[in-house]
Amino acid sequence: MDFSLTEDQQLIADGFAELMNDDSWEPYFRECDDKHEYPQRWVKSICDLGFDRILLPEEYDGLGLDWSTLAAAYEALGRAGAPTYILYQLSGWDTFIREGSDEQRDAILSSVGTGNQIVNFAMTEPSAGSSWNDMRTTYTRKDGKIYLQGQKTFQTSGMHVPYMVVMARNSEDMSVYTEFFVDMSSKGIKREPLNKLGLRMDSCAVIYFDNVELEEKDIFGTEGNAFMRGVQDFDQERFLVALSNYGTAYCAYEDTAKHANERVQGTKPIAAYQLIQEKFCNMKIALTNMRNMLFEIAYKHDHGTMGRGDCSMAKYYCSQASSMIVDNAVQIFSGVAVTGEHRLQRFYRDIRVDHISGGTDEMMILTAGKQALREYRK
Ligand SMILES: Cc1cc2nc3c(=O)[nH]c(=O)nc-3n(C[C@H](O)[C@H](O)[C@H](O)COP(=O)(O)OP(=O)(O)OC[C@H]3O[C@@H](n4cnc5c(N)ncnc54)[C@H](O)[C@@H]3O)c2cc1C
Repeated sequence: MDFSLTEDQQLIADGFAELMNDDSWEPYFRECDDKHEYPQRWVKSICDLGFDRILLPEEYDGLGLDWSTLAAAYEALGRAGAPTYILYQLSGWDTFIREGSDEQRDAILSSVGTGNQIVNFAMTEPSAGSSWNDMRTTYTRKDGKIYLQGQKTFQTSGMHVPYMVVMARNSEDMSVYTEFFVDMSSKGIKREPLNKLGLRMDSCAVIYFDNVELEEKDIFGTEGNAFMRGVQDFDQERFLVALSNYGTAYCAYEDTAKHANERVQGTKPIAAYQLIQEKFCNMKIALTNMRNMLFEIAYKHDHGTMGRGDCSMAKYYCSQASSMIVDNAVQIFSGVAVTGEHRLQRFYRDIRVDHISGGTDEMMILTAGKQALREYRK
């Protein structure tokens, strides 16, 4: 199979690579990471090049392109050291076009081109992480209104998004899980920031909902369909995390290859030592596998043949493989990596968090393993 980019994909990727070919981005990312700030200026710049329109259908003024093109864009940005993990909101339009009311969809699409953070999905609670069985946030109907009560935690972008899609259970029938499109300026909502090991250019929050008054029109999708909606959209979320990890690993690999050829110890560049070469062999294998896996999944998605476990497999593999690459990069850079301000420090922290956020490695294994076996069931 040929996974080289088409002429159009190459043009798009080149546009992003050219934007990144500016030395001022890295100090900006470092500053945003240090201050735990969203890199608005950078996100706006890539939106100006059409990043957030890649998957948006043409009837909504988008480019109506595919996962393969999105993968090419992520690859170009990640390879240049960009914090692509921040971009997850900018390609999830399909969920709002498919599930949202006209009002909800328009509220979300009004952010296209701005680079602003607009929305996130709130499932996780202190008692409900990998499993949603013990979710305690409820909704109750009273006098023609709906009241949301509970608490969500580990909410990505939670400090700043103007809207959240919040999953809750019907207090009168806890088997019914429904999502609500919540205006975060509503009365009764409190947000508290959480500190994070990595992915620091995005906020993370605990959010309290104290009898937040909603209406029937605020239901997102259909009542009782929250599980199905979540499962339907997990694949894209997992694919994006895997793409992001791959790009970060690619950047770490190239930084390190240049360094190994230049750093002289004992009269030779360290690249001449076989123990260093072994690390490059393993890094190159992992990088090649990641790219082939991701572009194959994108191709399958774009041709309607993606398997149900494919994105879980990719998220799991890419988090492991990129961790190995970044860890080896730190080892090869040695003192330079662990002191000072090298971007490898940021990569090391970011990739560690991705073994957990968006679903843990263990849950990815369970999903991918189950699907692998299903193919051989009679
Ligand atoms: C930075 C970050 C951002 C996040 N963003 C969001 C967000 O925007 N929205 C949202 O809703 N959630 C978000 N999450 C929550 C994330 O999805 C959960 O953290 C994750 O699902 C794991 O839940 P937990 O942390 O409670 O761990 P737990 O579920 O308590 O798991 C603890 C450990 O047990 C393992 N484990 C659990 N069940 C099983 C099992 N059946 N078999 C084998 N092992 C198991 C896990 O893999 C893990 O190693 C985010 C988390 C992080 C860290």
